[in-house]
Amino acid sequence: MTDTRISIYDQAGIDRLRARLRIDPHDLRRVRTSLFKHWHADEDAYSAVPQARVLSGQMRIHALQLHDRLDSQVDGATKLLFRTERGLLLETVLLRAGTGRTTLCVSSQVGCAAACDFCATGKMGITRNLIVAEILDQVLQAGQLAATRRQRLRNIVFMGMGEPLHNEENLYEAIRLLTHPDYFHHSPSRVLVSTVGIPEAMLRCAGRFPRVNQALSLHSVRQSVREQIIPLARRYPLDLLRRTVGELNRLQAPHGAETVMLEYLLLRGVNDAADDARALVAWSENLRVHVNLIPFNSIAEAPHLAGTERAGREAFAAILKQAGLKTTIRYSLGTDIAAACGQLVRKAR
Ligand code: SAH
Repeated sequence: MTDTRISIYDQAGIDRLRARLRIDPHDLRRVRTSLFKHWHADEDAYSAVPQARVLSGQMRIHALQLHDRLDSQVDGATKLLFRTERGLLLETVLLRAGTGRTTLCVSSQVGCAAACDFCATGKMGITRNLIVAEILDQVLQAGQLAATRRQRLRNIVFMGMGEPLHNEENLYEAIRLLTHPDYFHHSPSRVLVSTVGIPEAMLRCAGRFPRVNQALSLHSVRQSVREQIIPLARRYPLDLLRRTVGELNRLQAPHGAETVMLEYLLLRGVNDAADDARALVAWSENLRVHVNLIPFNSIAEAPHLAGTERAGREAFAAILKQAGLKTTIRYSLGTDIAAACGQLVRKAR
């Protein structure tokens, strides 16, 4: 059954609806504030409006249905499995770091066309782009859940399923509403877009949202190695990516986004030798970047790949740090509920 109600994110449609139902603009604003800024439950948000019954019959707050929820027993990560109207599944992960700060990992597509060798989503192929309401409903429903636990979403990262820069139009409209004072009013400096590396789109994103952080999934600075694990590396070679990161620095640093994150997945025997670390140092020269080393979460579809052991990860990090590169090792959360990077959705089938 198709839901014909007007999406709360459809500004023009909602304005017409409001006029037709003779709803006071202030009342509607109260509903939005209640949902997007206080993360109240839907019924509570509607309670401020005298015409709540009619309004809820014609305005649609949620584009997704919560299909399942899994709480990690080890580290406080929560995986939300959502279903679209037509029954597709996608995932959103709420991560709580040791510091108590919560990060929400949002999906931008069902599946992904990038087909990276190490990534479970990439092995699914692409089904479709998520629309704005589906992207933002992940944030709203996760925010409502977090509020019931007295948590607040601090960082919103586009690191879930999909390649956000393959869905630019919807991504940009979602970021516009995420940061808009009338909607979520979330600080752009606490939004991060992670990409496989699509130079022209990275520049467009920075031009439009200079304060939004970007992460480049680099994973190797050797062209042949990168091509072997990331098919799109053939189209966007490393020297072009390097120039793009420099250009992002130039565009973004004046707006407070000081560095570009370089994500580097450590794969045993593929990209984790001391020479690889030194090559990464050389590649990063004169760029303002910080490196985030990612432990590999193994996936059934790539039995030929294995992660670098902890000692190897630390040795790799030490070389980078010694050379003055800002480096962190990502602590992998949610592994017991298959919510870790690259493991999204497939377990649910
Ligand atoms: N398409 C975007 C965002 C989604 S993936 C991108 O490529 O950046 C988010 C991060 O998780 C990327 O750096 C990706 O390379 C990494 N990742 C993918 N599969 C992984 C796996 N099995 N283990 C660890 N990290 C993985």
